[in-house]
Amino acid sequence: MSQIDDLPPLREVIRRHGLTPKKSLGQNFLHDLNLTARIARAAEPLENITVVEIGPGPGGLTRALLSLGARRIIAVERDARAIAALEEISARYPDRLDIVAGDALTIDVRDHLGPERARIVANLPYNLATAPLVNWLTAEPWPPWDDSMVLMFQREVAERIVAKVGDKSYGRLAVLAGWRSEAKILFDVAPQAFVPPPSVTSSVVRLTPRPDPLACDSKALQRVTEAGFGQRRKMLRQSLKSLGVDTMALLEAAGIEPTARAEEIDVAGFVTLARLFARQQ
Ligand code: SAM
Repeated sequence: MSQIDDLPPLREVIRRHGLTPKKSLGQNFLHDLNLTARIARAAEPLENITVVEIGPGPGGLTRALLSLGARRIIAVERDARAIAALEEISARYPDRLDIVAGDALTIDVRDHLGPERARIVANLPYNLATAPLVNWLTAEPWPPWDDSMVLMFQREVAERIVAKVGDKSYGRLAVLAGWRSEAKILFDVAPQAFVPPPSVTSSVVRLTPRPDPLACDSKALQRVTEAGFGQRRKMLRQSLKSLGVDTMALLEAAGIEPTARAEEIDVAGFVTLARLFARQQ
């Protein structure tokens, strides 16, 4: 594929709109429209799909999603300089690109969605780290408003998302992701693909929501995993003390050895702990 649309090359768009990458906004732009098309293809089929894109920047991924047939894109972007570049894309694809200027962490995307389910696709800014993902994974009600997420992270973060109990990257993020979704690393993207190149490899991850995850209160699960993995080398009888409940009774009721460590407890074990913790509060 040599050209995905008749809009100018991204390099020119970036130059014309003075989009010098800002570290404070986690800006590492993809310039290669073939690569953005590869990421967009990971979210196919896109026909009749509403996509929520966080951080479209100069619009490389946005253009790929539109050219592959996404019915509508709701693009949330914080950098005012990018909005003019995105408006050019909107003019090329009338009624298919809604630009929402603002902070993805405070905007409620549901205000911009109709009754349809949407798909989240994003090359997320490194400055936000995992905050948007944790918000989406712990949202209520469940099943959520998205039918899947295709997201780019640093490889190390991607490994923390897909890790299983016993893996060295297993932690709080893996428990939250494994509880409510099936997560898979699809492919890696080399640092040289970005301008400026980050110091590490990135990975594209797909998360598909489980329709019927084990029942538990998401806040309680967050508290229990924070406490357990906050002191991951300590035994649970010690690390869970910060919950302010009778730790020994909690562990006994959950059928978990007080000497176990958080990294040995699978998702179902944490869900049991969270349910019992919620009852003790
Ligand atoms: N999608 C573009 C691409 O792939 O080349 C840009 C990706 S760049 C890694 C991240 C984008 O997220 C930037 O455009 C940045 O301005 C935007 N961004 C950073 N923080 C944001 C926030 N809190 N809310 C919305 N967008 C944000």
